[in-house]
Amino acid sequence: MTETVRTRFAPSPTGFPHVGNIRTALFAWLFARHHKGSFVVRIEDTDVARTVTGAVEAILEGLRWLNLDWDEGPETEGKYGPYFQSQRLALYKEAAERLVAQGNAYYCYCSPERLEAMRAEQARRKQPPGYDRMCRRLTADECARKNSEGLTPVVRFKTPLEGKTAYHDVIWGDVSFENNTIDDFVLLKSDGYPTYHLANVVDDHAMEITHVIRAEEWISSTPRHLMLYRALGYAPPQFAHLPMILGPDRVKLSKRHGAVSLIEYRDQGYLPEAMFNFLTLLGWSLDDKTEIMTREQIIQNFSLERISKTAAVFNLEKLNWMNGSYIRSLSADEFMRRAMPFLEKGLPPEIKRPLDSDYVHRMMPLAQERARTLVEVPGLVDFFFVSELQYEPVLLIDKKMTREASLQALEAAHQKLSALPSFENDSLEGVLRPLAEELGLKAGQLFGTLRVAVTGRTVAPPLFQTMVVIGRGLCMERIGIAIEKLRRLAG
Ligand code: GLU
Repeated sequence: MTETVRTRFAPSPTGFPHVGNIRTALFAWLFARHHKGSFVVRIEDTDVARTVTGAVEAILEGLRWLNLDWDEGPETEGKYGPYFQSQRLALYKEAAERLVAQGNAYYCYCSPERLEAMRAEQARRKQPPGYDRMCRRLTADECARKNSEGLTPVVRFKTPLEGKTAYHDVIWGDVSFENNTIDDFVLLKSDGYPTYHLANVVDDHAMEITHVIRAEEWISSTPRHLMLYRALGYAPPQFAHLPMILGPDRVKLSKRHGAVSLIEYRDQGYLPEAMFNFLTLLGWSLDDKTEIMTREQIIQNFSLERISKTAAVFNLEKLNWMNGSYIRSLSADEFMRRAMPFLEKGLPPEIKRPLDSDYVHRMMPLAQERARTLVEVPGLVDFFFVSELQYEPVLLIDKKMTREASLQALEAAHQKLSALPSFENDSLEGVLRPLAEELGLKAGQLFGTLRVAVTGRTVAPPLFQTMVVIGRGLCMERIGIAIEKLRRLAG
């Protein structure tokens, strides 16, 4: 590629960024980074009525969270700015007027009521919806008269009535549309704001975008854009439309499938590097097997050619697995740093704060081994902190054991453990395994009973490590309480 690649992410701030939006941004970013080009962020805020407060900030926050840095755009600026379409209105007006002067566009004075009635009639006759081109025939004099009556027109594009508009999509191959299926779409609204089509084309040209990488849903807009490029005398960029993202039920991913907002994933404790890797695989692949890849590896290998046309399926199980794997690859300190806010927030309020940092340090590796998301961390380790474990006493009676056998086991363990000279992994193992044998139990039976006694649950991190972290004092106290519970439990 001889020219410098310039891609853009052009979100409309009409809502908070979801997985689909950010996957688009990611692919445009990856393509730019792979080619050592530029990645531009442009805010398409021309639909004033649908603009949502806080959406721009949320979009930028989402990009920053995934570390998708932009070379030009809000906050960074650049020589093609401003990067908010609402600040570029003069450009669109100029383009629209030029198209009218050239005979490629015209003023339309049809009232909303007329358009509404027209649509209703089309629906009744089962005709495809679309403007009936009434104002396409107006003369300059007729327009002047309407203007003097105080009517404000919209500008519509004069779509060719015949022929085809075709292009080669980098992902979809040759795509072609019959021109007569496209109506005379609006370029400039009566409030002076451009429509998406006009602003998008004017800006992609003005910002020298070489590759338009965007969601599949925009394929049907592309012929309109190409007509505009031609009429304006601009060379069109390359287009690559990304495959749709479906939920596991193969229906387009939406709120019904759970979290779709990117920031929700952050708040649930997904790591940005895992999310980055996971989103990359929604449509792109290195080969048919590699799943975990570093950022550098992805940048290095990324190509539009390896993007599939087949819709990608968002598989939460896979994301959880991948996130867990990224969690385990963090250094202990890094895991601690990231998990701490989740721990502080997620532990019950009655647990005294600040948390004992030494204790937290010793227990965190056990959580790191198991957590799939950071939000799971408090639930995995809360038993380390609570002053009184809440559990059903029957849980102390392991499979194929009686109350008496469990009681006897706990009493014996209590005795042995208090007499141990040191309370370490090896010493615990050294005393508890023979004890099980002595009691005629399987090791798993004794350990199961002890696990419930010291953690209050049947599934927990490895028993000896857990006991060492909890410490002898608290272990003995908890085993004592378990013994009491069993004694009170009617046989
Ligand atoms: N503003 C459009 C959107 O929100 C941009 C589509 C495009 O990339 O052309 O998706």
